[in-house]
Amino acid sequence: MERMKNLAYYNGRITSIEDMMIPANDRGFYFGDGIYEVAMVFNHKIFALEDHLDRMANSAALVRIELPAAKEEIGHLLEELALKVESPCQFLYWQITRASSPRNHLFPEGVASNLYVYSKPWKGVEMSDEYRLMTVEDTRFLHCNIKTLNLLPNVMAAQKAKEAGCSEAVFVRDGYVTEGSHSNISMIKDGVFVTHPLDHLILPGTERNHMIRYCAELGILVEERAFTVEELAEADEIIVSSTSHPSMRAMELDGKAVGMKNPELVKKLRDKYMEEIEK
Ligand code: PLP
Repeated sequence: MERMKNLAYYNGRITSIEDMMIPANDRGFYFGDGIYEVAMVFNHKIFALEDHLDRMANSAALVRIELPAAKEEIGHLLEELALKVESPCQFLYWQITRASSPRNHLFPEGVASNLYVYSKPWKGVEMSDEYRLMTVEDTRFLHCNIKTLNLLPNVMAAQKAKEAGCSEAVFVRDGYVTEGSHSNISMIKDGVFVTHPLDHLILPGTERNHMIRYCAELGILVEERAFTVEELAEADEIIVSSTSHPSMRAMELDGKAVGMKNPELVKKLRDKYMEEIEK
């Protein structure tokens, strides 16, 4: 099989990412009317595929988008596409938009949803960076549990953090930490793993979920509760998690030194993750 350097797929058409064209009438373009997922590919296999497919189906249902095919079929297609890319290690993105139709707020009738996928080589797991974080007021809508394409507040926050020399923005709502602009924020305090509960204020992160499971396996206590910025600043460790960066440690928050006091526990969580990948 002739493999590609990178790949884009749109409703059955396959090209390189650079050559892919999407119709302007795709409602993702006008309204961000769609949902998306990101997964890592190791050795041409999609890591935690079921978790991502489940969240995809849940996000789609919450915004009343009908999947273009059964969840399992989408999974098989993604697996096939991951085999077509040269690099065994890939960053795999896919999105489903409601339909292509002339601009109108109302849902068009009788038009199928669109599936766009891309996959590109990825450097693999790299967790040696220590993050500087910056707090940003969380002014997002109250449906942050849906992984929608509407990421403008997240984009603004990420850019603000970057311009301040930081790796990630930490959203704060009414004094409580919700999540990062493209990650979940958890902390370790006195040996307990503390993370925001699953509600409408955060995305149910796959890595957040995996870490909770690793904690159970390791006998580490987990508290799913909201915590304040002050508590975060006093944490023994701050963990920033996402699919592409599963457990990053933070060393600075708003210009002050934080965390970095329980490397052993962080290592245990990372070892569990590496074990899972190898499996
Ligand atoms: N929260 C937000 C807003 C995100 O965009 C992401 C990932 O991109 C996450 C949390 C982490 O989710 P996951 O661990 O599934 O990548």
